[in-house]
Amino acid sequence: MSDFRNRLATADQEGRRRWLYPRKVSGRFFRARTWLSWLLLAIMFAGPFIRIKGNPLLLINIVERKFIILGQIFWPQDMFMFAVVLLIFATSILVFTAAYGRLWCGWTCPQTVLMEMVFRKIEYLIEGDSHHQRALDKAPWNANKLVKRLGKHAIFFGLSFLISNTLLAYIIGPEQLFQIVTDNPAKHLQGLTALILFTLVFYAIFARFREQACTFICPYGRLQSTLLDENTIVVAYDYKRGEQRGPLQHTQSVEQRRAAGSGDCIACQQCVVVCPTGIDIRDGTQMECVHCTACIDACDNVMEKIGRPRGLIRYASLNGIERGEQLKVTPRLIGYSVVLLALGVVLAFLLFTRSDVQTTILRAQGALFQKMPDGHYSNLYTVRVLNKTSREIPIELKLENSTGTLQVMGQPLVAPPQKSAETSVLIELEPAAMKPGTTPVAVGVYSQGRRLETLKTGFIGPRDDTAQ
Ligand code: SF4
Ligand code: SF4
Repeated sequence: MSDFRNRLATADQEGRRRWLYPRKVSGRFFRARTWLSWLLLAIMFAGPFIRIKGNPLLLINIVERKFIILGQIFWPQDMFMFAVVLLIFATSILVFTAAYGRLWCGWTCPQTVLMEMVFRKIEYLIEGDSHHQRALDKAPWNANKLVKRLGKHAIFFGLSFLISNTLLAYIIGPEQLFQIVTDNPAKHLQGLTALILFTLVFYAIFARFREQACTFICPYGRLQSTLLDENTIVVAYDYKRGEQRGPLQHTQSVEQRRAAGSGDCIACQQCVVVCPTGIDIRDGTQMECVHCTACIDACDNVMEKIGRPRGLIRYASLNGIERGEQLKVTPRLIGYSVVLLALGVVLAFLLFTRSDVQTTILRAQGALFQKMPDGHYSNLYTVRVLNKTSREIPIELKLENSTGTLQVMGQPLVAPPQKSAETSVLIELEPAAMKPGTTPVAVGVYSQGRRLETLKTGFIGPRDDTAQ
């Protein structure tokens, strides 16, 4: 075993960057990842235009402190709930990682999906497989190299611009983005600066920085090393089956090879040359491994060729490898999955049971109670309704628990989309329904016959029992 823990696979002895040329990979996992990536890319690019109840699927407007998740708008007033949602989300990530390792990184992380399924494929298309890329790098500058390099980087830049637009659409919404792109640039200097900066960052990441983003920057990557244990499912090399590794002698049968003390690993390095982070998975689980499964596919192909079972490198827990077991559903995995499911249900419940409006009721400033000519008492209130949706909401208010009347002053109350509306409300109670001092009253907030909320407030009357 080498000193792999003391050095970086992507740096040479002097600490200079060692550029990686991962070889093209093919296999069942790569095919599955390709299909999934098409789905994820479609969702990612279509996301800003997908609407749920008129709201975007996702909007993270940090500048205006407006957040929309799955079509649910979170206002500054919802910060508590937003914090709960984030906490549940963070806990889910921890539980998920402890059980399933870096499944997220290899299959669904936007960095991996874009790098391996978009940018890398374009690179293969223009420059060829790894050995062609290496040769092109070493070749002197000529027309062929110039055209290939310029073409590749122009496409990379264009794609980075597209991704940057998509990201900005998730931040400010597609309508505002459209304005920035089509309006007079002088009016949108801030937006255009963000667009250019994002484009440059994405271009730098996908054209140059690549696997370094996962190794050095991604906080999840750093965190996962503290979350994995010997029962976590990881991409692992079955050293029990593979060692002693050694080249395949064509004169030797598998049985002779076994008898000579050799394992199934024929030291062909195929698992290493396809790795986009440049590591050798046979050295054990490593921080750089993004669980992209390229080494599984590469090794499976080798095993098929030499007539050995697939799975020398496979998804397994370290305990499973130790005991030579295939992946199985353990009680621990079931436990973690149940916790995950429960957290998901809580998250969905919190998101989907939120009220569409947030209403406050306050007694009108400086106003006390009034005795009406018919002997009833009245209190004047100010009701403010915040409409959290993107549609107009007509509001009706009803007195819920007292004998009396509630009258909205002026026009019927209608809350405009994503704005608040305010009105004055007069509540009258008959003396028999009142307590000395303050009488608790409940006001139901309805829209089209459906109760949205119930407000509680106090109705002021005389302190003694002269009201009755
Ligand atoms: S691809 Fe498989 S057989 Fe080849 S070196 Fe890697 S583990 Fe060994
Ligand atoms: S070791 Fe295998 S799974 Fe890990 S990053 Fe390299 S190729 Fe992907």
